[in-house]
Amino acid sequence: MADIITTDAAGVLKVSDNPIIPYIEGDGTGVDIWPAAQLVMDAAARKHGKSIAWKEVLAGEKAFRETGSWLPDETVETFRTHLIGIKGPLTTPIGGGMRSLNVALRQILDLYVCLRPVRYFQGVPSPVLHPEWVDMVIFRENTEDVYVGMELEHDTPEAEKLRAYVKDTFGWDIREHAGIGVKPISKFGSERLLRAAFKYAVDRGRKSVTLVHKGNVQKYTEGYFMKLGYQLVKDEYADTFVGWDDCGGDPGDKILVKDAIADIALQQVLLRPKEYDVVATTNLNGDYMSDALAAQVGGIGIAPGANINYTTGHGIFEATHGTAPKYAGQDKVNPGSVLLSGVLMFEHLGWHDAAADIIRAMEATIAEKIVTYDFARLMEGATEVKCSEFGAAIVDRL
Ligand code: NAP
Repeated sequence: MADIITTDAAGVLKVSDNPIIPYIEGDGTGVDIWPAAQLVMDAAARKHGKSIAWKEVLAGEKAFRETGSWLPDETVETFRTHLIGIKGPLTTPIGGGMRSLNVALRQILDLYVCLRPVRYFQGVPSPVLHPEWVDMVIFRENTEDVYVGMELEHDTPEAEKLRAYVKDTFGWDIREHAGIGVKPISKFGSERLLRAAFKYAVDRGRKSVTLVHKGNVQKYTEGYFMKLGYQLVKDEYADTFVGWDDCGGDPGDKILVKDAIADIALQQVLLRPKEYDVVATTNLNGDYMSDALAAQVGGIGIAPGANINYTTGHGIFEATHGTAPKYAGQDKVNPGSVLLSGVLMFEHLGWHDAAADIIRAMEATIAEKIVTYDFARLMEGATEVKCSEFGAAIVDRL
């Protein structure tokens, strides 16, 4: 009998061999990538005596067509009660009341970590010389920073009021006709993200955590994030971690915590990727960094992601690309992003063998140059296959 995933008193996930997992197929190419990815996940689970009772929930265009709502309450409620879910890409409704369905889901469930592992899969075409040196895990804060949406449009009475207020109160001159935004970085928001990154580094035996920030310019927001990171190491994590300044860069058998300014970090992840392991960063930096890094190892067609609240146990795993409407329904695009998000979900559930099997089978498929159009155009002698055929080829190699 299938059952719902729960947590125990300590907040640890309790997952049976037959969990019910809600999924959103996704708009646009969702109709192509979801069935291909599901086929692989089901086969890998079955191989290890498990099965998933998939429960479709609606969001995006399909939800709007069937219910008149872009994000029905029932969908949010199902994710809330079932804890773990997975989704394809969603169209951002233009002119709708919501800025983005993805952002809405993150906010409603307070999914404060955006987790993006970036690693190389053997055989994937890459623009860099040593993509195999890339093995990083980005912890991007998901609820604060300029993403809080506290922006005032230029020349509105509200913007003028704020402009006058900061002039009177702080003596700050903001030019006229300026749009104005607010960037909050809090102790609470930063520390819970940092704790999640530190825990991950310990659990997965990683060597370092780099705090990526722009604190040289934004001292009291980005700089604060960095300071909170180092302080947390001193106050709570000194047994297992050590800050750069306290060890001169030689952490011994502890995990090194260092920092890098965002601009140089974006250069170093390209030139010296071996120096980056776990990365903890603020929301906007994390957004730029995860896509730039994904480009080194195959692009957004295979970049997985997850949004997690480690306190409540909620997690939604998701394709990181959009709906690619021009390819929708053509059975053409790469299902890798949603499939590898499924792998991430399996790992999160503790299904490590099934997760490893999918990766091995996917690497074997790509090694035989059986790939979708996005890789085929970058590879010599590739056999271009459809989205569904790529999924089936992976299943054959499980
Ligand atoms: P997009 O859908 O990500 O597509 C941009 C390009 O990325 C595509 O033209 C294609 O490149 C490549 N691509 C996307 N998915 C791929 C896949 N599965 N396999 C291989 N290549 C893939 O971005 P967009 O066109 O800017 O956005 C379209 C819609 O998606 C918008 O409504 C946007 O709001 C939404 N969106 C949703 C999410 C989400 O749900 N997480 C994220 C981003 C955007 P080529 O043209 O080079 O083949």
